[in-house]
Amino acid sequence: MSTVNTPGTALVTGASSGLGAVYADRLASRGFDLILVARRVERLGVLAKSLAEKYGVSVRAMAADLSAAADLQRVAEELARNPAITMLVNNAGASTLAPVADTPKAGVAAMDKVNVTAVAELSYAVLPRFKQRNSGTIINIGSVLSFHILPVSTIYSATKGYVMNLTRGLQQELAGTGIVVQLVLPASTATEIWELSGVPLAQLDQATIMRAEDCVDAALAGLDQGELVTLPSVEDTELWERFDAARLALFAGAMRGKPASRYGIAG
Ligand code: NAP
Repeated sequence: MSTVNTPGTALVTGASSGLGAVYADRLASRGFDLILVARRVERLGVLAKSLAEKYGVSVRAMAADLSAAADLQRVAEELARNPAITMLVNNAGASTLAPVADTPKAGVAAMDKVNVTAVAELSYAVLPRFKQRNSGTIINIGSVLSFHILPVSTIYSATKGYVMNLTRGLQQELAGTGIVVQLVLPASTATEIWELSGVPLAQLDQATIMRAEDCVDAALAGLDQGELVTLPSVEDTELWERFDAARLALFAGAMRGKPASRYGIAG
């Protein structure tokens, strides 16, 4: 149970490698107890032991395949029932980079279930208690492919677009409450996901690749600074502001109640 002196427990999905493992380290260093979720439980066990020893926090490994309904339900129940949980990091992600017709069905299902369904269901599970307490933090890991699409990223981009819209919506719903919802949009970062996606890191422009540690440290600095949307690698913050302003202007421009004149339909 969290007290005023401790930040409570953070549940981090996808903590067995990459950004999730770094989140686990950094949150433990901030005094969070941890629940680490992923399929590769032996890796989680090693990480849990080392973080507990290093930082003196309590760390539990929870084996779960977030693409399996029963496992997802188990993690959701933990979030709904464990009163110590003060933070959810929806970090687990799956990626197959290929044209839609060339993507194995299992890859489509994994992206859909892990990147979309799990993020929504886990947020849904934790929110009632956060609302009751008027406090808590949800960190959702999107991507620069939340707002960009490549010919090989159609499904991945679609799932990460979902993460962006879900998170932006939650931020509006929870504005003015004590609940913080952060959207993190990393660009290329050196993790295992690239090899798994079918596009090895070696194929990328090496100058565009960030270290996983830098990505998470920047994202947590953004959280500390009260950013709702953190783009760890973007120097010019006006780029996002202009993107967001264009979105609002486009929406306002669509609310006219009649076809645009270029279609030649008399109203
Ligand atoms: P990663 O090293 O491959 O880590 C992905 C994590 O997700 C692993 O811990 C993996 O654990 C877990 N995971 C995957 N499928 C799962 C499943 N079915 N059930 C439970 N856990 C599952 O990749 P990463 O780059 O750190 O990815 C973290 C997040 O960052 C993802 O959401 C990714 O989309 C996003 N992102 C990454 C980049 C990048 O360039 N690396 C850029 C933008 C956004 P197990 O395999 O042990 O289950």
